[in-house]
Amino acid sequence: MTASVISAGPIPRSGSAAQGAIELRQVSKNYGDVIAVDQLDLTVRPGEFVTLLGPSGSGKTTTMMMVAGFEEHTAGSVLIDGTPVDSLPPRERNLGVVFQNYALFPHMSALENVEFALRMRKVPRAERRQRAADALDRVGLGKMGGRKPRQLSGGQQQRVALARALVFNPAALLLDEPMAALDKRLREQMQEEIKALQKSLGISVLFVTHDQDEAMAMSDRIVVMRDGKIIQSGPPEEVYNHPLTDWVASFLGDTNLIPCTIVERNGEEAVVDLGGLGLARVRDRGADGVNYAVSIRPEHLKFSTQAAAGNGCAATLLSSTNLGATVRHRLTAGGHELQLRELSSARGAGSGPDEDLWVGWDEDRAQLLVLES
Ligand code: ADP
Ligand code: MG
Repeated sequence: MTASVISAGPIPRSGSAAQGAIELRQVSKNYGDVIAVDQLDLTVRPGEFVTLLGPSGSGKTTTMMMVAGFEEHTAGSVLIDGTPVDSLPPRERNLGVVFQNYALFPHMSALENVEFALRMRKVPRAERRQRAADALDRVGLGKMGGRKPRQLSGGQQQRVALARALVFNPAALLLDEPMAALDKRLREQMQEEIKALQKSLGISVLFVTHDQDEAMAMSDRIVVMRDGKIIQSGPPEEVYNHPLTDWVASFLGDTNLIPCTIVERNGEEAVVDLGGLGLARVRDRGADGVNYAVSIRPEHLKFSTQAAAGNGCAATLLSSTNLGATVRHRLTAGGHELQLRELSSARGAGSGPDEDLWVGWDEDRAQLLVLES
């Protein structure tokens, strides 16, 4: 484990009363016939880490650019700390922005790049130097201020961009896929460091990624976007465990989707008919549609004995694949092909070849959802 180089001490806040609340009200953006963002309502509370998660082209960057003021919206309003900022240029919105490609000036040193953000805000020269040096220090680049971007690694450039976004004590940070160019290990390290930095500063963050693991690891709340719209929003575990549609369930990871018909709905619960898997009581978030299915994550299916099982069915094992930390089993049960994932250290599927196999799940792990397509 590499030690964190971003220091977690507080940056002294300037005298502003900024809390860092961001609010989008019915914000839309059209590019000709393309509706990039469609009547978006979104709130980031002070100190909250909110992630826009969606596939490429779902409108994440456009949304962020409208908050930052680099794109003009077609309709709606953006508010920061309760004040509409629609007519303010980016610089006056007091938001720190890290773009997808960092956008560092190649001819300026790291220190000059960070200082530039202060120069734009008319901070006196003498104060500028010191604050820029402090910000570089904070991201672990105190000794590299003299280097040009091309003399820095991808991760270091990313830290310079972060220092530049933080140096003027912004009300909130906007980060657009800031880790996209980094390799996996560095990306995970930066995720933890940015999260620690955000916590220690108590700063609001609007984060953009198409990487569901990254969204799960960092966010207080995930906002799932598709085709310019919000499909679902909630804390990571909630969105993961209780997806409203098959698309959300599949975008966030592997899942078993079992088509069903609804027998009865009563508030948080429903009774559904899973065909060959019988009747089951499942979680219900009230999503309305035409066709329904039940989602059960592979790690929430388990082998059991018929006597112990509440929900479940006799099963036939098709294959088992050891993936290192986990084993993936493919099986059929009640006419459905299912995936079950368990830790490699677990007992494993039917220890003997002739052992009767039964697969089951806990009621609160089965989520009723709408089949979108
Ligand atoms: P994401 O960041 O989620 O990948 P974007 O916000 O970049 O998505 O894009 C959303 C949609 O808007 C896409 O269909 C994209 O092609 C379109 N779009 C983005 N920028 C422009 C532009 N400057 N002109 C025309 N279409 C654009
Ligand atoms: Mg983008």
